[in-house]
Amino acid sequence: MLAGLVAGATLASLLGLPEPLAAGETAPAGAGAAGESEPSANFADAPADAQAVAKVEELEKRYGVRISRDGQAVRYGTAYGAIYGQSSNWSMRTRTPNSSELASLEEALAVSNPSHLLGKKEGSPGISIYFLKDSGQHQAFADWGLTDDGKPAVFVEPAVAHYVSRWRSDQLLSSVDKLKAIFVHELSHNSAYRMGYDNLQPDRWKLLKDLGWLPAWNPRTRALEFLIVSKESKDVCFKFSYRTRSFVRCDRGGHFLTDAGSKSDHLRDAVKVPIENLSFLALVPPITYYCFDPMEVFAEAMMAYRLGGVPRAKLKELSPALHDLVRLQDQAEIDMTYGKGRYGRGEDGRLKDNQAGGRAI
Ligand SMILES: [Zn+2]
Repeated sequence: MLAGLVAGATLASLLGLPEPLAAGETAPAGAGAAGESEPSANFADAPADAQAVAKVEELEKRYGVRISRDGQAVRYGTAYGAIYGQSSNWSMRTRTPNSSELASLEEALAVSNPSHLLGKKEGSPGISIYFLKDSGQHQAFADWGLTDDGKPAVFVEPAVAHYVSRWRSDQLLSSVDKLKAIFVHELSHNSAYRMGYDNLQPDRWKLLKDLGWLPAWNPRTRALEFLIVSKESKDVCFKFSYRTRSFVRCDRGGHFLTDAGSKSDHLRDAVKVPIENLSFLALVPPITYYCFDPMEVFAEAMMAYRLGGVPRAKLKELSPALHDLVRLQDQAEIDMTYGKGRYGRGEDGRLKDNQAGGRAI
C-alpha cells in the first residue's frame, strides 16, 4: 500500500497531503481525488490513444502481466486495511493507462523482475494492474491488494500522477521518476507474497526480527500493533500513535514507557518521538518516513534497492542492515524463479545474465 488508509488515518493526513476521497464519495466534475481543483484535465476520461494500447499489449506479452482497459471493472477484495480490521469488497471501473503512466510502469517492471509474477517460477502468469477510472474508489493512491477471487493485483488511483509529483520530496527519490518508484514499491509487496510472506498476516513473518520489528497486541484493545526495536535496548521499542502522530516509547508488550523508563497505561506519559527522528533511534533504521509498520519498511527498502543508483546508495548508507536484508531477499527471489546463480541485479536495477558476461535482460 502506498499513502493509504492505516488504522483510521492516512499517510496523506499524517504528512499533510490532500486525502483521497472516502469510498463511495464522488469527486466533483473535473476534480481529482481529495476534491481538489487539480488536476484540471480529466485524463481518466480521455480515450486511450493507439500508442498506449500498443504499449499495453507489448508489456502484457513481454511480462505476462495483465493491464486494465477502458470499460472494464474489477471487484476489490482485501487490502492491508484488513490487518487493521477494515475490509472492502466493491466494484470499480478501470481504464487504459496513458502513455506516460505506461512509460513509468515499463521502467518499474524492468527493475522489479521477477516480482511481477504470481507463481514461483519463470513463465508463470503475471500480476494484474488495474488503473482505476474513478477517483476515490480506493483509499490509497496505489495499493497491492487482492481481488475478490483472492488474486494479488496492483490498483492505481486515476489522480496518482498528480499526487506523486509533489509527494515524496525526500532526498532518496529526488532523482527518480516517482510514479516508477510507486510501481516498484507495490511490486515489492508482491515480492513478499511470492516469497511466502503473507501480507495479511505480517505478525507471522520470519523476517520480522531481522527487520527490527516485533508484533504485539495492544494491552488495552488487544489489536495487533507493530513495535520497532530501539538501538538503546531490546526491551525498549517504539510504536506509532495515530493520536499524537508520532512514535511513542514502549516496552516489548506495547506498554507505554515514560522518560524515567517506568511503565504507564497513559499515552500522555509516554515519550514521544517525531517520525523524522525514528531512524536515529531504531536498531534497524527505516529509510523513509513511510515506516508505520514492517511491511512498508520492507517495501520501501526493496524499492530503493531495485531502483539502484542514488536510492540504493542511500539505503546502504542510512541502513546497512536493511540493505543487506533486501539484497539477500531479492537474490533469493531471483534464484527461486530462474534458477540459482543464473541472474543477479545490476547497479541500475536490471537483471544481468551471469552466463552471458553480465548482459542485461
Ligand atoms: Zn506499501
